[in-house]
Amino acid sequence: MCKVTAIVNQKGGVGKTTTCANLGIGLRRKGYKVLLIDADPQGSLTDSLGYCDPDGIENTLATIMGKFMNDENVTQNEGILHHNEGIDLLPGNIELSGIEVSLVNMMSRETILRRYIDTIRECYDYILIDCMPSLGMVTVNALTAADTVLIPVQAQYLPLKGLEQLLKTIAKVRRQINPKLEIEGILLTMVDTRPNFVKDIVSLLHDTYDGRIKIYSQMIPLSVRAAETSAEGKSIYLHDPHGKVARAYEALTEEVITG
Ligand code: ATP
Ligand code: MG
Repeated sequence: MCKVTAIVNQKGGVGKTTTCANLGIGLRRKGYKVLLIDADPQGSLTDSLGYCDPDGIENTLATIMGKFMNDENVTQNEGILHHNEGIDLLPGNIELSGIEVSLVNMMSRETILRRYIDTIRECYDYILIDCMPSLGMVTVNALTAADTVLIPVQAQYLPLKGLEQLLKTIAKVRRQINPKLEIEGILLTMVDTRPNFVKDIVSLLHDTYDGRIKIYSQMIPLSVRAAETSAEGKSIYLHDPHGKVARAYEALTEEVITG
């Protein structure tokens, strides 16, 4: 049984891409078959996994979605890259912004990505979709294709309003197109445990959402070692195997597996 998880927050720079790469590779290290999909025209996931010129890649998520929109044939492995840490990647690049625009006038515009994912689901245990920092059509496609949503939230200050807007969008997608969609959990990222306000943020989150939404007990600490991986093309497990961020992502992986 394959689980499709969209990693979403319309706020930028909260650790979506870093979490997608390191949770994905974490799941692979536990023996699961994993596909990561870069659904961001910035191509940061593609770039951070070592494919340094996303815009130069010919076959990407944009190509595949374009073909589905035009009812063209797509072969099962089309566009998929095999990363040396064992995961598969469907890269993304700037052409996705063109897709974002053309989707607006499409018939069944919300379900294009789901139709594609349905054709490859059986090949994987986990498919993680790294979303762009917006709630536009490509992100709505990811929410429509997903079984669950994982929401990274930066612990520096709490943009509760933004979170409420995201939860409303998720609820709307659930009501209108994807009734099975569940919230996997809220993940606190870039946590600097020194200042006291982090404790306040954590307890505010628990007060606001406890019982309604899972908040992962594992948080991801702030560390320059994590920031470095974006330029290294490899996961935190290879870049800094004994560091606190590698341990945190490993524990998060366990939490995701056990549910
Ligand atoms: P965007 O919204 O632009 O897609 P994002 O939510 O995907 O951003 P990331 O790209 O994962 O966020 O992270 C933003 C920046 O913070 C990157 O430079 C990344 O290397 C860095 N970063 C991620 N996690 C950590 C961490 N735990 N500690 C320190 N820096 C981090
Ligand atoms: Mg990103």
